[in-house]
Amino acid sequence: MTTAPRTLPDPGALPPERYGAFLTVRRGIPLLLTASAFLAALIHAAGRGWWMLGLVAGVASAWPTFLRGPAYLRNRTSIMRWDGLWARGLRPLARRLGREDAWILSFCAWHNHRVREAFQHRKARRTLVLLPHCIQWSPCKAGILEDLQTCYDCGKCAVGDYMQAALAGRWESRITNRSHKAYREARAYRPELIVAVSCTDRLLKGLIKLPEVPTYVIPLALPHGMCVDTDFSVAHLRAAMDALAQPAAAAAKVLPLRREA
Ligand code: SF4
Repeated sequence: MTTAPRTLPDPGALPPERYGAFLTVRRGIPLLLTASAFLAALIHAAGRGWWMLGLVAGVASAWPTFLRGPAYLRNRTSIMRWDGLWARGLRPLARRLGREDAWILSFCAWHNHRVREAFQHRKARRTLVLLPHCIQWSPCKAGILEDLQTCYDCGKCAVGDYMQAALAGRWESRITNRSHKAYREARAYRPELIVAVSCTDRLLKGLIKLPEVPTYVIPLALPHGMCVDTDFSVAHLRAAMDALAQPAAAAAKVLPLRREA
């Protein structure tokens, strides 16, 4: 038995990305070193060769933070490796300061910002949505790992809304219970863009493990702690797909169904 599909959360516009902390450190420290090396080279003539070497190293380190659009996409693998080193290297300090999540989210937001710029004028033709299994309400027995449409859309978790949105938009998507499976699925599908939902720790690991694929990330909410009954904004995911991915050709012809348990 089917009933009329209900209205999904309005996607609205993508929220602003808050990347100030990561960018300040990632670009600011190399530029500060560059300026210091330049001043030292002016003052200390005897060691000028070394100071000039430091100056070049500072410029080379800061330069990738200025790449935008197609240049960012072309150089993304090396950019992610370098930025990943900064994110992971300073993570223990952020943890000591009680700002670990904020630091990782700032790193994620910086790359979200650059991915948004890169797909602003030419949306991705081949997009994969990745979600973790912990978004499913833990007592639910629906086999959504194998078939998303086994969800009864009972309203207990975000999977129901997600299923409706994915069916309506004909999104290519995977729900996985292990990170390595998600990476394997992503490599097999060879997407032009990934839109991934996960906790901050997995988002950082995922961005570093798959540096070659531009990825827009959406953090999970953890109202019951890690890995159980997590939540996320389906509206945010829809906004990301609307803004970054080309719509599937036959999307309008597919009507989402509402099943009865
Ligand atoms: S919406 Fe309901 S049926 Fe679907 S996965 Fe969540 S709890 Fe299970």
